[in-house]
Amino acid sequence: MFTLAIVGRPNVGKSTLFNRLVGKRLALVDDQPGVTRDLREGQARLGDLRFTVIDTAGLEEATDDSLQGRMRRLTERAVDMADAALFLIDARTGITPTDEVFADILRRKGRPVLLGANKAEGVKAEAGLLEAYGLGLGDPIGLSAEHGEGMADLAAVLRPLI
Ligand code: GDP
Ligand code: MG
Repeated sequence: MFTLAIVGRPNVGKSTLFNRLVGKRLALVDDQPGVTRDLREGQARLGDLRFTVIDTAGLEEATDDSLQGRMRRLTERAVDMADAALFLIDARTGITPTDEVFADILRRKGRPVLLGANKAEGVKAEAGLLEAYGLGLGDPIGLSAEHGEGMADLAAVLRPLI
């Protein structure tokens, strides 16, 4: 089964998107021996597409000095398990230095990367969406995980990879 890892810094909307894609069909990776609760896996539905999706969590409660290292390890682990990564940024806040760190990790991984500019509903998001082009990871897909916008665009970019 094609597997997509949703990655990005805390609070960009990874879990909101995961929940939208998976609905109630959630399997906690937690239940499997040897796998930590920092990664959640579920079966996604997006239009007619079916795939496995991984949510990276557990960064939110990290202390300052361990955040960078944990972020890197967790993101690399998720991407290693996946066929492609969906890198989410927050279109309302624009690109932050932490986003640049994630972009670097992903470039080094050499896996296909889709760039999602989340929270893209409304005019507040326009500048952030434009900034996302500057990451050098291709054209951002404007998404609103909360409102379900951009899902057809996401499907269109995913379809050829699956
Ligand atoms: P995560 O830390 O990346 O998993 O982010 P969450 O999914 O927990 O979301 C962080 C916050 O952003 C929550 O308050 C969500 O309700 C909010 N959020 C998520 N998606 C959207 C969106 O599309 N638009 C807006 N405006 N808020 C969103
Ligand atoms: Mg989360």
